[in-house]
Amino acid sequence: MNNASLSYEELLLKAEQLEDENVRLRQNEARLESLLKMSLLAEATEENIRSFALESVVALTGSTGGYLHFVNNDNRTIDLVCWSKAVHKVCKAEKSEHYPLDEAGIWADSIRLGRPVVHNDYRVESEKKGLPDGHFPVARHLGVPIYDGKKIVAVAGVGNKVEPYTVEDIRQMMLFMNNMWMILKRKKAEVILKKYSMEDGLTGLANRRRFDEVLEIEWRRALRGGRPLSLIMLDIDHFKNFNDTYGHLSGDNCLVMIGDCFIHQIRRAGDLVARYGGEEFAVILPGLSLEQAREVAESIRRAVAEMKIPHSSSPVSPWVTISGGVTSIIPHQGSSASELVRQADNELYRAKTAGRNRVSVPA
Ligand code: GH3
Ligand code: MG
Ligand code: MG
Repeated sequence: MNNASLSYEELLLKAEQLEDENVRLRQNEARLESLLKMSLLAEATEENIRSFALESVVALTGSTGGYLHFVNNDNRTIDLVCWSKAVHKVCKAEKSEHYPLDEAGIWADSIRLGRPVVHNDYRVESEKKGLPDGHFPVARHLGVPIYDGKKIVAVAGVGNKVEPYTVEDIRQMMLFMNNMWMILKRKKAEVILKKYSMEDGLTGLANRRRFDEVLEIEWRRALRGGRPLSLIMLDIDHFKNFNDTYGHLSGDNCLVMIGDCFIHQIRRAGDLVARYGGEEFAVILPGLSLEQAREVAESIRRAVAEMKIPHSSSPVSPWVTISGGVTSIIPHQGSSASELVRQADNELYRAKTAGRNRVSVPA
């Protein structure tokens, strides 16, 4: 049947259907666009990802407010992590951020029931517990559970759409918020991975990779600022004897104790203590002069000696001792950070040959 044979009423109906179809297409477009934007937010902070997701579902469902709660590991309490901006502005009720699940209102029903819940006329809702004074006024509400596998890990909700919430809104919320969780989860995993890839497994200090990275960054910073960059290389004296006498496990414990000692000695923000490799450590000290760095190295050497870790097979002392090589350079164009490492290594070698348990600086 072509349009010419339709009656006026039928034409009107057809126009309406086309308009509905148009609205749906535009909606789908907006949804896809928001989903795409969210997936591109992987570099943003967790907080920004959460609020982007929440503001998006508020807008896409035609709501005027929304919230996001995470379920804690005890499975009995929940934490408010995000209100949509509109709720922030309007809601004057005292905001509690940590609730027992039992005391939460119907908006947490989707956690208890394990499915989406809709209250299309909140005022006549018999199960409601009432809203505290000044609360964001609720007329309609849609809440959905957010899953990690089979476990509910969060609940998101929107409220006050002009028309009743539909199955389409539910689908939209589920898709969007569960996607948000996957992005957050991947981000968390990346952060943990990054931490482990930069940390020495035994001592918890920065590892060689992190040391190289920080040294390069500080070198360039010192070059730009025309400031000195100092480096201390430290090495345990006669550590092979220590292992031979007390065993490798005791050797590991000794490395951990010495690592802890260094961390307690180096407290200035911006300084870095790293396990350079084996029983060698390095300390990066941005901005310190050679004399200041020598003092730091000397205080570390003393602190290790004062721990009095027995070392009966050391020809130097009855206790574990360390030697240190110090250097300080004001970088200039064409120079490189490896020069700093080379000089500090030279000084460490000089400290060793001069008898160990000492700190050496360039003459
Ligand atoms: P020096 O005073 O000249 O530094 O003598 P040293 O014995 O400390 O030096 P050497 O380089 O001959 O030996 C270093 C020892 O450190 C040998 C190695 O088994 C030990 N070592 C390196 N890494 C570890 C570790 O992770 N755990 C333990 N227990 N020992 C380690
Ligand atoms: Mg050694
Ligand atoms: Mg060594």
